[in-house]
Amino acid sequence: MRNRIQTLEQLESRLSLTPEERAGTILAGKKLALGITPHFFNLIDRNDPDCPIRRQVVPRMEESNTAPDELMDPCGEDSHMPVPGLVHRYPDRVLLLVTDRCASYCRYCTRSRVVSGAGEQELTIDLEGAFTYLKRHPEVRDVLISGGDPLLLSDAKLDQILGRLREIPSVEFVRLGSRIPVFLPQRITPELLAVFRKHQPLWISIHSNHPKEITREVKEALGRLADAGIPLGNQSVLLRGVNDQVEILKELFHKLLLCRVRPYYLYQCDLIQGSAHLRTTIREGQELMERLRGHTTGYAVPTYVVDGPGGGGKIPIGPSYIVGMTDDRVILKNFRGDVYEYPEISHSIVSDLRG
Ligand SMILES: *Cc1c(COP(=O)(O)O)cnc(C)c1O
Ligand code: SF4
Repeated sequence: MRNRIQTLEQLESRLSLTPEERAGTILAGKKLALGITPHFFNLIDRNDPDCPIRRQVVPRMEESNTAPDELMDPCGEDSHMPVPGLVHRYPDRVLLLVTDRCASYCRYCTRSRVVSGAGEQELTIDLEGAFTYLKRHPEVRDVLISGGDPLLLSDAKLDQILGRLREIPSVEFVRLGSRIPVFLPQRITPELLAVFRKHQPLWISIHSNHPKEITREVKEALGRLADAGIPLGNQSVLLRGVNDQVEILKELFHKLLLCRVRPYYLYQCDLIQGSAHLRTTIREGQELMERLRGHTTGYAVPTYVVDGPGGGGKIPIGPSYIVGMTDDRVILKNFRGDVYEYPEISHSIVSDLRG
């Protein structure tokens, strides 16, 4: 963490920047800070200005343009916080933000308004308030700990948070969202694993977008987590010029399966301010999904979702395999585009059978 690249000087001494990157890096200090771990930086192809790793973490001038329809808080989280740092959008689960810092900063971060400490808005966190809220809301059975990156907290702090959650009888499912296994695989230490083992069952969702990110070190870190009995999922963001090609997504998802990580969600990029150069259309996303489903291992195919702008939550966006639907039949197409009919059971048949 101490050796991260955080200034223009540090970046420029290691990488010859394009004018767009240079200008973007100067402006980054006002919005989302520059931060790149040595592990992740070393994956950058220094001769390729379009390197998919570089595109994710090196700021660009385009970030300071706000395209029409882009939002500060694209998922409407601020308006769904009953307690600072606790987002309660779905009936039975909450998102608990425990820090605003990450090991590296993704330029498309959906929470860039509060992450990194560089922007105007600050993330306020009230953990005691969150624990009290959860005790008073026994309908919440699932807590997703995120941030920022929760694995930046010390082992002792994580132990304490997990312990406090485990004291609440209605909280049965606890998971962490973290990009640390990818940005800083060294963080997955025996001591950290001991904390996780203590608070089983615990699930972790990692975040990776490109097969280059799954290095030997990352694979080993994921192996340590899996060996500790932690089921692993992955969330990817569909990004223009990073992973918007079927071969890239397929290679990433296959590699993840071999690391015992199940691709969970593929996100349509949120309407975050300054993200237009990284966003694809939903139609492109659906076409990519169509080229995965049925063409490769089902476990390797995540659910493609868009966070309903303004606070709709995750909405699966297909593609749909239902071509038509009437009262007595459903017309389906398979992965090759061939059409099949599934006749619906009718209530009269059911009652006839009953006699
Ligand atoms: C993504 C998210 C969750 C978890 O959703 P799952 O579909 O159960 O993974 C919970 N709360 C918020 C606010 C979220 O954005
Ligand atoms: S790791 Fe997650 S929270 Fe942190 S900058 Fe990247 S997308 Fe944002």
